[in-house]
Amino acid sequence: MRALNSKEVNSLRLYPDPECTSLKEKMTRYYGVLPENIYLAPGSDDVLNFAFSAFCDSTTPAFFPDITYGFYKVFAELYGIKYTEIPLREDFSICPGDYYGIGGTIFIANPNAPTGLALSLDEIESILINNRDNVVVIDEAYVDFGGQSALALIDKYDNLLVVRTFSKSRSLAGARLGYAFADKKLISDLDLLKYSTNPYNISRLTLAAGEAAICDNDYFESMRQKVISTRERIYNSLCALGFDVIPSKTNFLFAKNNRIDGGKLYAELKKRGVLVRHFNGERTGAYVRITIGDDNEMDILIQKIEEILEETK
Ligand code: PMP
Repeated sequence: MRALNSKEVNSLRLYPDPECTSLKEKMTRYYGVLPENIYLAPGSDDVLNFAFSAFCDSTTPAFFPDITYGFYKVFAELYGIKYTEIPLREDFSICPGDYYGIGGTIFIANPNAPTGLALSLDEIESILINNRDNVVVIDEAYVDFGGQSALALIDKYDNLLVVRTFSKSRSLAGARLGYAFADKKLISDLDLLKYSTNPYNISRLTLAAGEAAICDNDYFESMRQKVISTRERIYNSLCALGFDVIPSKTNFLFAKNNRIDGGKLYAELKKRGVLVRHFNGERTGAYVRITIGDDNEMDILIQKIEEILEETK
């Protein structure tokens, strides 16, 4: 809030810096990459949008897991790109070998949504080694909550695009700020799309908020740790209530209880003023995805679930 001061508001009469120089400089120091390896966008959805547009076409199809972030399919359909959804294993994990030598552009959320499961860095690297001629997009929206980042691999693999966001672990979803790390050739493809459509697509206020977020590492660490410790506490509470909960590396839990269907639990919680997410589908229908809120919110959630389970006895 201090960064979004009246001086910043007063400068709204001016266009923002399209190259985002000052924010990139701070990110360069923080992440140990060069400015030419960073792309900034109004949210990581915008990076993904450009990645589908830049790295897929009629001869380059898209490949992604059958259970993953729903927007991959939306972008593929929007651009008329052929896509294949690769089934997750029975335990909802991604099988890296399914992606070797695939002949198209790969999109993997790591950790994955809504499962919360992550691939190791070695597994990601095995996908990269076996796809030298294909672009591999690793969507790390949730990586700060316990996953291993592929950022260190961008110098080794010029086919890797690592996509990140300020929306989750930096608590700035409303500011709309996403980014990507990659070899400069991939970054310049994204830049070409940006400069050919909307060069000033990140506002001055958002840039100022992003700079402040990068500079306040203590705040970032304390919020991140808080989410992780609340997640672990709620994991245990749900297990104690008879839920099967997938161990999560994200800021949400994917859980089912044999006593109540996922759709019914979603509806009962909604009636009581608590929103979780439910995904229809043969394998996901039994589950709900519960985002980690503050301790008070999570205590209310547990209390409401206890009530609902009591009623369905
Ligand atoms: N990737 C994944 C896996 C997500 O869950 C989300 C958030 N819905 C995004 C990308 C997009 O986030 P944002 O546009 O807020 O950066």
